[in-house]
Amino acid sequence: MKRTHNLTNRPAFFTTPGNSRMKVGIICSTCGEIEAGSDRPGLPPAVIARHFAAKGWKVYREGVSATCPKCQAAPPAPIETDDAEASLERQRAAEARRQAAIVTPGERLVAALPPKSEPTMTTTTSSTTNAIRAQATMHRLLGEHFTTDGAVGAYDEGWSDARVSNEAGLALVEVVRVREAAYGRVVDPRLAKLETALAAAQVKLTRDLGEITTMLETIREEGTKALAALTRQLAEARGLASR
Ligand SMILES: [Zn+2]
Repeated sequence: MKRTHNLTNRPAFFTTPGNSRMKVGIICSTCGEIEAGSDRPGLPPAVIARHFAAKGWKVYREGVSATCPKCQAAPPAPIETDDAEASLERQRAAEARRQAAIVTPGERLVAALPPKSEPTMTTTTSSTTNAIRAQATMHRLLGEHFTTDGAVGAYDEGWSDARVSNEAGLALVEVVRVREAAYGRVVDPRLAKLETALAAAQVKLTRDLGEITTMLETIREEGTKALAALTRQLAEARGLASR
């Protein structure tokens, strides 16, 4: 019998080809016994379930599972009935194991708590406070001893990530992470020195050129004024002389 599932979410039912059309069959969830029915797959599962129930099947939740008449008559009984004493002994042992495994709600609660009964809230709060203080110290030290210029920076002489880590009491990786994210990359001190010198030289050149330019303008302005004054005086003198 070829079985093709068609009734979704009704694993106890399956469709199977009948003489002229598809029909619904049923399968036992316990032993796998199957029985072909006469219902069409299009019928409501409740109706199909009712028809199989009439044939002696126990159908649960309209076909989610089912038990065949045979399994209902003889439920699975793994314990042999011919050795009553051994059976009873097994039952006693099982009960003893069950009792040993039982933990009262109170015992479970104790087991779930931390080993020491210290006030957990206080411990958490004080460790949080310490962490905040350490972070604050780190930020203060970075602010005081790490000079940034854009995305890069440099430590003052004698300062480093390691020293900030030590003094703040934070992991080195934490200091590096925060410094990179919030302050800047560390540049090689020698490069930083050269970069600083270059920047200073550029500033000085610009300032010097500016001063010279100002001086030149002053000279030109004053010279022009002097020339004009002398030209005027000369013209006046010539005027007087020609009279
Ligand atoms: Zn069965």
